[in-house]
Amino acid sequence: MSATQSQNEAYYATAQQLMPGGVNSPVRAFGSVGGSPRFIVEADGPYVTDADGRRYVDLVCSWGPALLGHRHPAIQEAVHAAVDRGLSFGASTPDESRLAQLVAQRVGGVDRLRMVSTGTEATMTAVRLARGYTGRDLVVKFAGCYHGHLDGLLAAAGSGVATMSLPGSAGVTAATAAETLVLPYNDRAAIEAAFAEHGQNIAAIITESAPANMGVVTPEPGFNRFLKETAHAHGALLILDEVLTGFRVSDAGYWGLSGRQEGWTPDLYTFGKVIGAGLPTAALGGRAAVMDYLAPTGPVYQAGTLSGNPVAMAAGIAQLENATADVYAHIDARSAELQRALADALDAAGVDYSIQTAGNLFSVAFGTREHGVRDYAQAQAQESFRYGPFFHSMLESGVYLPPSVFEAWFLSAAHDDAAMERIFAALPAAARAAASA
Ligand code: PMP
Repeated sequence: MSATQSQNEAYYATAQQLMPGGVNSPVRAFGSVGGSPRFIVEADGPYVTDADGRRYVDLVCSWGPALLGHRHPAIQEAVHAAVDRGLSFGASTPDESRLAQLVAQRVGGVDRLRMVSTGTEATMTAVRLARGYTGRDLVVKFAGCYHGHLDGLLAAAGSGVATMSLPGSAGVTAATAAETLVLPYNDRAAIEAAFAEHGQNIAAIITESAPANMGVVTPEPGFNRFLKETAHAHGALLILDEVLTGFRVSDAGYWGLSGRQEGWTPDLYTFGKVIGAGLPTAALGGRAAVMDYLAPTGPVYQAGTLSGNPVAMAAGIAQLENATADVYAHIDARSAELQRALADALDAAGVDYSIQTAGNLFSVAFGTREHGVRDYAQAQAQESFRYGPFFHSMLESGVYLPPSVFEAWFLSAAHDDAAMERIFAALPAAARAAASA
């Protein structure tokens, strides 16, 4: 073992004594790819640096928030200034409205916004609100979609639940699980059948605007609009979960690539990640008639000591103000280049794969060349064993990928030519490692 590896190993050994699995979020543990997780001590632009001083090109970007790259000067400056005014007041601030305005200007149908601290809180509140508004109990979700770790939505969930091959989570009561109908993604017939049978009792459909937690899956054209029409035909709501895609795949998230052109909006959206630029902020928003059912105007209770935290608001405002059309054009172009380079390397190594995309988000799925991936069953059936060797080869070459085949690759505005060249140089050996797995 080299001297540089030992510091990471030492931190990991200590962390395992102190925290379950040594981590505070499961996928970080490298469970599906093997090996010891890297302990990151610093990040800058498109790079992260581990405890041993090794610098990696970062394709995780904090799982989405680092849209402009790490330590973007405008965000750093805004955060430092906010810190100097005080960390938290437990009272309303002008910046909360400023951030809400920025969101409403970009995303159609956001009359009102409620700030919360995590994506999980946003989806949890959206589901409660939909139930309170409709007076109904059931919620439809799709297998392989991840909406955070609220009890009712962990069944057949993506992200870490998929990585660990769990059907759901222990600790969720049967009664709670029975209130969630889990359907296959992209399957209109299954949705029609579920509504034919349970339509009177369904409060909402919740869907990732474009799934990115079973790897990326492209919604079939018009699929989200179909969900809205079906929900509304039965008096139910559509919740579009844009926690991961929001302000990342376009200025207005995946809705900006679909609903905006098609001329419709969902009843509720959830946002997270990019909206907080790396500080813990998330939000739900949507139609005034529904949103005003939240306390204090309505009967659905929701609250938060740190909601609308002033430092997080400052970060989010600086992020959205600097997330210009050029930023999205840059990330789109880098994503296309990287997909091409990945395809070339895998082709040269003779690997069977498909690249799944949703705007600038993408992931690779091995052994799926024939049919791609349209749902969770196909995502699970892929040759996921090829990802570990691929991942570790990339890591050895200084590229930090998501440590699971079920996660999207994240780029940022800071991924410049030098960073991209490092990734391109690393791909051929990684493709050969995947081929011989
Ligand atoms: N929804 C989606 C689509 C997500 O990708 C995530 C997190 N990856 C969440 C909700 C939950 O967000 P958080 O981790 O901030 O609770």
